[in-house]
Amino acid sequence: MLTVLGVKIVQLVTDDSDAARCPSCATVSTSGKDWVLTRPRDLPCGGEFAVVQWRKRRWRCRTVDCVRQSFTEQVAQVPAGMRTTTRLRAALAVAVEDGRDQSEVAAAYRVSWPTVQRAVVALGAVELVEPEPTTVLGMDETRFGRPRWLPDGVHDDGRVRWVRTDPWETGFVDITGDQALLGQVDGRTSAEGTNRLIKQV
Ligand SMILES: [Zn+2]
Repeated sequence: MLTVLGVKIVQLVTDDSDAARCPSCATVSTSGKDWVLTRPRDLPCGGEFAVVQWRKRRWRCRTVDCVRQSFTEQVAQVPAGMRTTTRLRAALAVAVEDGRDQSEVAAAYRVSWPTVQRAVVALGAVELVEPEPTTVLGMDETRFGRPRWLPDGVHDDGRVRWVRTDPWETGFVDITGDQALLGQVDGRTSAEGTNRLIKQV
């Protein structure tokens, strides 16, 4: 670890033999091409943030019929194309799941708001599985704001067209089972509810 102008810098290379495995044909390469330097964001250590510099190897794939000529190594903590570590993304998502504000989490971990949002979506895709069938389905309508008039395009004669929004949501609840809220959709018309019901239940 180096400290430059008060900033801790951690320099890494990986010794994971799978890092040199071609993502297309799964052959482990021994033909190094060059190096690239990346800076994946990571969790703070002991309350302190450090700049992580990962020197990654770029490998050639020598398999004759492989479509990939070269690839950059990847490890489970930093999959290809990711600029954050897996453990950082997990911590961001869990923080929001615990009720913390997304902007506050972004500031606390020194990442952007969209980075937090992507982490939340990724965790949701893992945790929010399809619900089990239910014996008795309940529907709740909830209004979550006041009706408003909003501009919705322009008429041919140049006048602005307005639409009235009436923001309702319909929730589907497992009344006799223990699954609680199964899903929630915008609107409260039978068409909106039925369409989603067919997809979800
Ligand atoms: Zn290959």
